[in-house]
Amino acid sequence: MRALFKALRGPGLELRDVPEPIIGERDVKIKVLKTGICGTDLHIESWDSWADANLHPPFIPGHEFVGRIVEIGADVTSIKIGDLVSGEGHIVCGLCRNCRAGRRHLCMNTIGVGVNRDGAFAEFVSIPESNVWLHPEGIDLDLASIFDPLGNAVHTALSFPVVGEDVLITGAGPIGLMAASIARFVGARFVVITDVNEYRLNLARSMGVDAAVNISTEDVSKTMKELGMKEGFDVAFEMSGHKSAMPMILANVGHGARIAALGLPAEPISFDWAKVVTHMITIKGIYGREMYETWYSMNAMVRKGLDVSPVITHKYAANDWKEAFELARSGDCGKIILDWSN
Ligand code: ZN
Repeated sequence: MRALFKALRGPGLELRDVPEPIIGERDVKIKVLKTGICGTDLHIESWDSWADANLHPPFIPGHEFVGRIVEIGADVTSIKIGDLVSGEGHIVCGLCRNCRAGRRHLCMNTIGVGVNRDGAFAEFVSIPESNVWLHPEGIDLDLASIFDPLGNAVHTALSFPVVGEDVLITGAGPIGLMAASIARFVGARFVVITDVNEYRLNLARSMGVDAAVNISTEDVSKTMKELGMKEGFDVAFEMSGHKSAMPMILANVGHGARIAALGLPAEPISFDWAKVVTHMITIKGIYGREMYETWYSMNAMVRKGLDVSPVITHKYAANDWKEAFELARSGDCGKIILDWSN
């Protein structure tokens, strides 16, 4: 089968012919139709310090996908051949304290599909039955292919109640943009997003935020005044990983603010911890999706009218992956889809 392959430690990927996955008794084999390109895949391709510390090639990257079941293991009971599915990209041990308590997203032994084992940038991928998410027939395939990052956005946006609250989002990448849509959908008052990329800020404006602020030239406190806000944001989502984001959030939130942080800084950051204490601020780290409450929540919201489709801005055939990765790296795009079906 064709696969985008990480052969060696170091920069680069190659599209090459590799053997199809062999499945175990509790696994399924999926014919991949479409995949999303994630920031993680860019790290894998460029081979930065995170990649060097965490990855062990050879492997096939890719963890955002939709496809159809073509083979099931002997012990698989809930999934049948032909089903339209995506996969939860975190495979958990089922045995650690958190797993046994039902908090599987907090598993200490999590294995990442397309990170620590072969992923979906290929014509076929294999995952355990327990990680399969069954889609209804008729769902838009592009949307279905990005349920994994949509889940990151849902996990973040639903971490704290936002009904009637003012929400600040730092970072207008695909997950930040989707989180803005979700906050709006579930009843936030003002939704303000920041970035330094005008393409992404314009995309945010088209998705219905109250303000999209270019922090290289504008100040969030000015936006707050324009909106008539007096006491700071109630809730913030840190989606950028940039070292300036958390200090900026802390400067603009009110007493008792709640901050959900998904962006991964490249190195340790510093911020005003005294304000966290004296303003009684809650900070929560977000990694992946709650298994599987997040999946049920996003399925329900999508079926009841949550529209994140504007976040998908470009589609490429898998063979044109280089061009797609280059565009993703430029930042002048939303989510990019690779089509493996032809
Ligand atoms: Zn575990």
